[in-house]
Amino acid sequence: MLVKGTTRVCGVMADPVAHSLSPVLHNYMAEQMGIDFIYVPFRVDVRRVEEVLKGAYEMNLLGMNATVPHKQAILPYLKEIDRGAADIGAVNTLVRMEGGYKGYNTDLPGIKRALADAGVTQFAGREAVVVGAGGAARAVVYLLAREGMSRIWLLNRTLARAEEMAGHVNGIFGEGLVVPLRTDCWRQIPAGKYLVIQATSVGMYPCVEEAPVEDPAFYRLIDVAMDIIYTPAKTKFMKYAMEAGAEAYNGLRMLLYQGVEAFELWTGQTVPAEVSEGAYCLMERMLEQ
Ligand code: NDP
Repeated sequence: MLVKGTTRVCGVMADPVAHSLSPVLHNYMAEQMGIDFIYVPFRVDVRRVEEVLKGAYEMNLLGMNATVPHKQAILPYLKEIDRGAADIGAVNTLVRMEGGYKGYNTDLPGIKRALADAGVTQFAGREAVVVGAGGAARAVVYLLAREGMSRIWLLNRTLARAEEMAGHVNGIFGEGLVVPLRTDCWRQIPAGKYLVIQATSVGMYPCVEEAPVEDPAFYRLIDVAMDIIYTPAKTKFMKYAMEAGAEAYNGLRMLLYQGVEAFELWTGQTVPAEVSEGAYCLMERMLEQ
């Protein structure tokens, strides 16, 4: 790709950042669509976020993605926050506006589109289990609540974190919707078949032999399983779910679609399906290496 004086610059701020697939994704989309745009990785110390955002604005950066550990840390330094992102309490995409950056959360449409690809489009009246109460789980739980699920069982190692998130989401959507439980109390979930979304970092490379729950009985609760981790491509959680007869998907499509949504916010252009599929195949190949 030819970088010119007119080229608009975006990037991802993270720490660490070397593992990020976002540069591959965005530069591929820009090249395929002929957009004068480049996307670079920035390793940013979370204690320096304020200066980094001021510097990025002064250097005319069009936008940024923010990931671990910045998604909540950047909130005080934004000019404006999109309503959905403010409700979730986490931002992963910054878009340049007059005087600063506006924050969005594209993890939410990302997980929604990934679920749709897995055939999950009906939420109203159904129940789900979410494992994890970190930054990514916030978008997942908010999406399921917004789409009308009747109950969301929220499991987390640290109960206080699940309780905090449940309090926040129930405050918006209604008491009792999100039920927080310590992960090892999962037997309190009534027997049935659930959409189960794994949103902890347990099982992520290099700890590939770990799963958030080891008991095979837990996996018999699953109808459709989605692990938002994408390294490895098949996590221990997914293996257990498949052994129990469930469909299981990894987080690569969520990663793809949160990036597509961010790219569209920055460029104002719709990413054609063949371009996003090409990007998906490229990322899949890179993960296999
Ligand atoms: P956070 O650090 O905010 O949250 C981590 C979560 O994992 C918490 O629920 C934490 O529980 C739990 N956890 C961590 N270690 C353990 C352990 N040893 N045992 C039990 N639970 C544990 O991370 P994020 O929410 O930002 O990210 C979570 C995962 O999602 C990561 O693997 C990340 O790569 C992935 N992700 C994928 C995306 C995609 O597009 N596919 C997008 C964003 C994230 P506790 O509260 O008890 O500490």
